Amino acid sequence: MKMNEMMETSEEYILHTYNRFPVVLERGEGAYLYDTDGKQYLDFAAGIAVCALGHSNPEYLDALKNQMDRLMHVSNLYYNRPMMEAGEKVIAVSGMDKVFFTNSGTEAIEGALKAAKKYAFERDGHSGHEIIAMEHSFHGRSVGALSVTGNAHYREPFEPLMGGVKFAGYNDLESVKEQITDKTCAIILETVQGEGGIYPADGEFLKGVRRLCDEHDIVMILDEIQCGMGRCGDYFAWQGYGVQPDVMTCAKALGGGVPVGAFVMNQKVAKASLKPGDHGATYGGNPFVCAAVSKVFDLFEKYELISHVRELTPYLEQRLDEIVDQYDCVTQRRGKGFMQGLVITGRPVGEVINRALENGLLVISAGTDVLRLVPPLIITREQIDEMTEKLKDSLNQVDL
Ligand SMILES: *Cc1c(COP(=O)(O)O)cnc(C)c1O
Repeated sequence: MKMNEMMETSEEYILHTYNRFPVVLERGEGAYLYDTDGKQYLDFAAGIAVCALGHSNPEYLDALKNQMDRLMHVSNLYYNRPMMEAGEKVIAVSGMDKVFFTNSGTEAIEGALKAAKKYAFERDGHSGHEIIAMEHSFHGRSVGALSVTGNAHYREPFEPLMGGVKFAGYNDLESVKEQITDKTCAIILETVQGEGGIYPADGEFLKGVRRLCDEHDIVMILDEIQCGMGRCGDYFAWQGYGVQPDVMTCAKALGGGVPVGAFVMNQKVAKASLKPGDHGATYGGNPFVCAAVSKVFDLFEKYELISHVRELTPYLEQRLDEIVDQYDCVTQRRGKGFMQGLVITGRPVGEVINRALENGLLVISAGTDVLRLVPPLIITREQIDEMTEKLKDSLNQVDL
């Protein structure tokens, strides 16, 4: 079948909730993907910050195949060894205390919100608590996660959503302070905003939110779904700020490509929130996905991916800054580690992304005008050069 036919047939059957790029991807190896015509693409999208180990890592795949042969699923009514191992590793690298595995990032958000609500309920003996979220945030598409997503366009058709949510300005501590009442149970924010346009938190802001949460016994939730798992040069971006949340959410790169997320909490919240019967998930943390999580952590250590990200970040930033200097339509670079955004002005960012696709480079957008680069963490210096050349070619083709 021709690529065009496959796209047409897909559109015939698959609900059109995504405007997909005109390519059918078939196979991947390392930082490269191949379409059904055999054309090669350098992957600086990584399945939206998921494939930290790149594609088809043989050790990762062996672990998955072994687990498949042994046991796929048993439900959460029984213990299983991969969950024990994955749990131990999440707790070891995060320095937090308890984890609940979910099937997605959105579900991790749901769990985190419920933990915060239950914590306040246990303390105050009543419900009706409020949550403060950030403008331009993104936390997912379910009703709960959408309620704390600071983008009116995403929310409006589905109102009324979960009540009791107030929005504050990201990196604007005063506006957060103004929203606090004696009913506030949680403040939720991304440590680095992703979908909203790649905005890292200011250190002072994050410390200020931590202080407010301590003063008012509010649960601080950091969403690390995109910025976590080494992408920003630490296992979790908050570790680089020296600010620890009470609850964190994780997903995307956590399973290296299998659908898995997690919410992780400290002892204070764990002791006084979700109890048997309060939360559950049939699949959540099943042996198959947990074998993946466990192997992902092993390979992060084996390849020393955190130091690799730290070592190559200055070079990636340097090459991107060069683009900001050379092109009038590229006005700013923002980001942390391997989570970078270029602000494109005067041209639709989609035009640049489509040219890049034609030139064999996969990049994506964020917000309305940001070109987002979230490559696999295994990329090399040479691949950064290759990306830079392809991006420059693409900009040359659209720049007037
Ligand atoms: C992707 C993302 C989510 C949602 O995760 P899903 O796995 O798509 O449900 C939530 N928060 C952030 C910051 C994300 O980047």
